[in-house]
Amino acid sequence: MRILDLSLTGFRNYESFQCAFDPGVNLIVGENAQGKTNLLEAVCYLSRGAAFRTRKEAELIRFGADYAELSATVESYGREQSLRTVMFAGRRPRQLFLSGVKKSSREELDGVLNTVLFCPEDLMVLKKGAAERRKLLDDALCQLRPRYAQALEEYRRLLAQKSAALRDRFERPAMLELIPEYNERMAQTGAILITTRARYLRELEKRAAVHHEAFSGGKEQLRLVYQTVSTVTDPAAPAAEVYERLKEHQSSHYRAELESQQCLSGPHKDDFEAALNGLPMKAFASQGQTRTAAISLKLAERDLFEADTGELPVLLLDDVLSELDPGRQDFVLNHIQSGQVFITCCEQEKVTRIGKTIRIEGGRILPQEPTPSGARADKS
Ligand code: ATP
Ligand code: MG
Repeated sequence: MRILDLSLTGFRNYESFQCAFDPGVNLIVGENAQGKTNLLEAVCYLSRGAAFRTRKEAELIRFGADYAELSATVESYGREQSLRTVMFAGRRPRQLFLSGVKKSSREELDGVLNTVLFCPEDLMVLKKGAAERRKLLDDALCQLRPRYAQALEEYRRLLAQKSAALRDRFERPAMLELIPEYNERMAQTGAILITTRARYLRELEKRAAVHHEAFSGGKEQLRLVYQTVSTVTDPAAPAAEVYERLKEHQSSHYRAELESQQCLSGPHKDDFEAALNGLPMKAFASQGQTRTAAISLKLAERDLFEADTGELPVLLLDDVLSELDPGRQDFVLNHIQSGQVFITCCEQEKVTRIGKTIRIEGGRILPQEPTPSGARADKS
C-alpha cells in the first residue's frame, strides 16, 4: 500500500501543495512550524476520515479560506485509486470521493489507504500507566477482529453495571442480586479479551524483538509479557480454561469487592511488561531505549496488520528522531526497507539514503538541492 502523490489546497498552512512520493522512505525536513506534521495529518485524514490533532474540521481549513481540498493517488492490492476530500468553512458537510465517485459514508473508503501513525505522545507508552498499553492492544485488535471489538464493548458495559451495583450497595441492595449474572458474562467476555490480547502480544513480541535487535545494533533483547489476574497463569490458554480461572478469581475476591465497593476481578486492569535484556523497562530503560522499543512495537503492529490484510499500511513517524543516537537514527532513516514510510524531522542536515528527502518551509516545498545524479544521489 502506498501513496503515489498528494495535492493540498487550503489545508492548514498549505495554500497549494503538490508532491510525488518515494515508494520507500520519505523524509520531511524543516524548521519548527513549517507544516511537517500538517502533511502527515493530511495523509491521515485521507486514510481515516479524521485528523489526529483535532476533531474540528474548521481548524483544518487554512485561515481565511472557504474550503480545503485534499487528494491523493493510492496504490493498494495492485490497483491505483484516487482519494479526494473537500471540506467547507461553515455548515456544508464534507464531500468524499473514491476514484471520482462520490461516497456517502466514510466506511466506504475503509481499507483503501491504511496508515499506522506514531507521534511523540506514543514514545512513552512503555513508561506510562497500564491504561496506555491496554489501549495499544485494544486499538489494534478492534481494527483486526470485529469479535474482539464486540467483546470489549460488552465487557465495558458489564463492568460499569457491576461497579454501579457495588458502589450503591447500601442505597440499592437489590442490585447485588444481579452480580452473579454480571460475573458470569464478565468471565465469558473477559476470557475472550485475555486470550486474544495475550496471543496477539506473543505475535507482536516475535516481530518487535527482531526490529528492536536490529535497531539497537544487536545489543538488546526485547521481551513482552502479558499480565492479568493471579489465577490465570497461562493467558494464552484456550478461552474455556481462562474462563474457569476467572470464575475462581471472582469467587475468592467477592468479599473484598463488597468491602471496597469496587470491581476487583477481571481483565480491566491488565497490562503487559516490557523488558530489555531481562530488566523491566519501566524501572530501568533509558529515554533512547524507551523510544527504540516503542518504535519497534509500531513496526511490529504494522507487520501484523500486513499478515492479516495482505498489505503493509503506510507508516507515519512524526518527530521520532530526537534523543536517538546516530546509529538508531540511521536505523529509522535507512533501514526500514519494507513498505512506504513518512518521517518528519527538524534537523536540517538529515537525509535518507534509501528514499526521498523533502524540504518544507512555510507550507511550500523547497527546490531539491542540485546533486550530480538527482534525489537518490545522497547515497554515500
Ligand atoms: P514542529 O517541528 O514544531 O513539529 P511542524 O513543521 O510539524 O513543526 P506543523 O504542526 O505542521 O509544524 O504546523 C505548522 C503551522 O501550521 C503552525 O504554525 C500553525 O499555526 C499552522 N496552522 C495550523 N492550522 C492552520 C490553519 N488552519 N491555517 C493556517 N495555518 C495553520
Ligand atoms: Mg511537527
